[in-house]
Amino acid sequence: MCSHGLQTTVDAVSDTSFAQLTTLRVGGTPRDVIRCTTAEEIAATVQRFDAAGTPQLIVGGGSNLVIADGELDLTAVVTGNVGIELIDDTTLRVGAGTVWDDVVAFAVEHGLGGIETLSGIPGSAGATPVQNVGAYGAEVGEVLTRVRLWNRETNTDEWVPAESLELAYRYSNLKFTGRAVVLEIELGLERTELSQPLRHLGGQRLTLAEARANVLKTRRAKGMVLDQGDHDTWSAGSFFTNPVVDTAVADTIDAAVGEAGMPRFPQPDGREKLSAAWLIERAGFPRGYPGEGAPARLSTKHTLALTNRGAATAGDIVALAREVRDGVEKRFGVRLTPEPVWVGVGIDEAGPA
Ligand SMILES: Cc1cc2nc3c(=O)[nH]c(=O)nc-3n(C[C@H](O)[C@H](O)[C@H](O)COP(=O)(O)OP(=O)(O)OC[C@H]3O[C@@H](n4cnc5c(N)ncnc54)[C@H](O)[C@@H]3O)c2cc1C
Repeated sequence: MCSHGLQTTVDAVSDTSFAQLTTLRVGGTPRDVIRCTTAEEIAATVQRFDAAGTPQLIVGGGSNLVIADGELDLTAVVTGNVGIELIDDTTLRVGAGTVWDDVVAFAVEHGLGGIETLSGIPGSAGATPVQNVGAYGAEVGEVLTRVRLWNRETNTDEWVPAESLELAYRYSNLKFTGRAVVLEIELGLERTELSQPLRHLGGQRLTLAEARANVLKTRRAKGMVLDQGDHDTWSAGSFFTNPVVDTAVADTIDAAVGEAGMPRFPQPDGREKLSAAWLIERAGFPRGYPGEGAPARLSTKHTLALTNRGAATAGDIVALAREVRDGVEKRFGVRLTPEPVWVGVGIDEAGPA
């Protein structure tokens, strides 16, 4: 059954705020918060709100959301359908509301490889296809076989192949469109003792359990595993995607900085992916920028994460994001694109996005 946040009247707003529902811990109050614990209830709730024209936002773990301050004219529908099922020797079927890292732990415990390098990514399983989550050279799209969607355009509950989501680097056709709600996912894994090659260990393969432990340790050192006591993790993870540019642009930046070893990753289309973190640092924004006392700062462990030091508002996060984006553009002519989903606010203005 779906449970309401607290207040449910049209004029009242909930007393649960998005600061409580998101890992950046900023954002104002929705009209209501509704948590549904089965796929069918999520679908029925979303259908009902769509029919009534009620603005809604699907929320999993809130780890990829930047939400405006103040009162918001929308209802948060939180996916709470939790469950992991091994439906054949190597296929996992997972409820959208399941904590993603529980899925990885389950796979590793059951000798199933393919997602161990995605250990420690916060959020829900249902959100993993939305931006095709990835880390250490792997992406969920490599093992995602099918997705059960509530299609909001046709009002149908349907299983679709992963290919229909047009998965790409931190992208699917679900991201920014809200055209469908992921109710369940299926992952095709591999019976194996050894992990995928670990990019950060020069392609070395460890046992699944060792690989998971190694990835978690590496991520923790960068503040990339949620920890309530560590403000470096009060973030939305990497705040900007790595830009893909023409080789001539990469050459110009390389020459201008004049340091050996600028990270450059050739892409299939002949262009090159650069490291947003590297560009941010070289544009004059070191870790911890702008320093002690600021409510919003770059993580002290990882330049690419914008963090809330405890009292930040969405406005503080947006102002820092804008300063960093504009600083990188001024120095290198490359405009960084934010990775999270923005609601009610945009990087260019304080009003609705
Ligand atoms: C510390 C930290 C580290 C991170 N590291 C990584 C990383 O290594 N790699 C990476 O790719 N990401 C990373 N992220 C980003 C984030 O964890 C992922 O994008 C994650 O998949 C978001 O899941 P969520 O459940 O929290 O989604 P939310 O933040 O709740 O939602 C994000 C978007 O997805 C939509 N959505 C959520 N659930 C559904 C659903 N069931 N159906 C349809 N739409 C839905 C929402 O409406 C919203 O638009 C990191 C974040 C943090 C805070």
